[in-house]
Amino acid sequence: MGEIRIHGRGGQGTVIAAEIMATAFVLDGKYAASFPFFGQERRGAPVAAFVRFGLEPVREKTRVYNPDIVIVLDRVQAGNPICYAGLKEGGMAIINSRHEEIVPLSVTNLELLATADATGISLQEIGLPITNSCMLGAFAKATQLVQLDTLIYAIEEFLKGDMLVRNKRALQRGFHEVAIKRQEKDRVFNDEITNPTPNDNFSAAVPFQSPYESAWAEVQKLVTVRTGEWRFIAPVLDKKTCRQCGWCSLYCPLGCMKPGEDGYFYPDLNYCKGCGICAYECPAQAIRMVMEEVGGY
Ligand code: SF4
Ligand code: SF4
Repeated sequence: MGEIRIHGRGGQGTVIAAEIMATAFVLDGKYAASFPFFGQERRGAPVAAFVRFGLEPVREKTRVYNPDIVIVLDRVQAGNPICYAGLKEGGMAIINSRHEEIVPLSVTNLELLATADATGISLQEIGLPITNSCMLGAFAKATQLVQLDTLIYAIEEFLKGDMLVRNKRALQRGFHEVAIKRQEKDRVFNDEITNPTPNDNFSAAVPFQSPYESAWAEVQKLVTVRTGEWRFIAPVLDKKTCRQCGWCSLYCPLGCMKPGEDGYFYPDLNYCKGCGICAYECPAQAIRMVMEEVGGY
């Protein structure tokens, strides 16, 4: 039996990726099961989903703690060692990044690493940073466990119309553009690049929730979640257009858009999760959502 763990965020299609993958395994004549694990029910929150497959019926119902393959749909999480926790010796990781260096040095039992610019491809093909289809294509090529045609057939059960066409294109590009590399035993990477997260506190340690939670921090003795780590696009203000009306701050679901001393409103990037609601609601269209650079990306 093979075990796969998929890491992503709410809104990136993590759960549906697991379902499509399991469907493809079944279409290829294998047994398979998939199920998700949700953390907080918020768009942008870390989500994990699990797939088991094999030639015998799959009975296990636990989360996957020792995966043969890890897939990371989210380019920020690709730098988080927790995503690779429990990876079996000789395991494989397929990550949304153009740079293999993003994988932390502590991940030593990795044999094959596949990298794909799934965010870039998905933005081009789908118009949204929903990376699941592209990463499924990368998975098919890197593992050879499912046929590309079978995946395309499976995705037709989940999507329709224009979104199906776009997602098929993203899937095919993931298949053709993934880079696959066998890992050397003594990897020496740039430390700056291996720690790409905006905050250092990217762990489940305080308090313990699950290995897939993220970004707990203590602020004035209160435990809080630094939702800024969920963000990959950030609001950018055009001061010439802004009327200083404060509408954006009223609509921000995290209450993190605050007035500055100059009268303009600015997001607290420790907490802004990049949802774009402020840009959508701004009556003057003074806010643009701009893709952020992540270290090493
Ligand atoms: S809603 Fe738009 S115009 Fe109003 S303060 Fe915010 S950015 Fe400026
Ligand atoms: S993108 Fe705008 S609305 Fe969304 S969390 Fe950030 S500041 Fe708030």
